[in-house]
Amino acid sequence: MGAAPPAPPRWFRFQGFQDAAIILAFRVGTPARMLWLMANMSESPLDRLWKEYSAVFRDFDDLSLARWLAQTLGQIEGRAWRLSHPLLGAYRLAAQVAHDRQIWFKRLATAPPAYTEAPCCRAPLLPLFTRDVLETGLVCQHCGDTCVPFDETAPELQKQIRPWAEKYTPMHAVAHWNDAQRKRSGNYEGRLEEAASEVEQLLLTAGREIVPKFLEFYPAVVWEDQDECLEVRPEDVEL
Ligand SMILES: [Zn+2]
Repeated sequence: MGAAPPAPPRWFRFQGFQDAAIILAFRVGTPARMLWLMANMSESPLDRLWKEYSAVFRDFDDLSLARWLAQTLGQIEGRAWRLSHPLLGAYRLAAQVAHDRQIWFKRLATAPPAYTEAPCCRAPLLPLFTRDVLETGLVCQHCGDTCVPFDETAPELQKQIRPWAEKYTPMHAVAHWNDAQRKRSGNYEGRLEEAASEVEQLLLTAGREIVPKFLEFYPAVVWEDQDECLEVRPEDVEL
């Protein structure tokens, strides 16, 4: 029996393979997933939909785009945001168009002073917390790279995050079990449901107890509030 399919690319969406331009990062990914994506994925209907959504920002001139981003950064300051929040979805689309155009290098607008410069792409630092935090650290909402490696997060937070992520990983893995593993479990559907409800609780813990603590260090932070492989949706995670 074949192995389970690789984890679906939950992160970047590409315009095409020619320039590998990242235009629609609804999410942001690990290198392994990116490679899998590049090798396996042509543009899906969802890619095309997000491309359509982002057209509004591609029509902005550089100055308008820079001002929109700077103003929005001011409005999101002081809070932890769900990845699923529409305002953050819009911000992400604009940020990627801006990244493609190197807007932040042009110094057309000034971000609110609370935002420091991200080391990855020199955009204002707006980190995303995901279930892959041990591996990828906090992820930049502008370029999709790691903006804060896990080892560079505050030690007191690491102490809380490491056990959280170590509980999460095996639960998530249930969604990707191969046929032999599924058979061995006896009741795979039941196992899957258990894993989903565990993950729901873990996402709740992240949203309530972990992510808000990042506000001590960053003016705003985004957190992944769903697990598509286990079919845990943002609305299942009620804070
Ligand atoms: Zn970056």
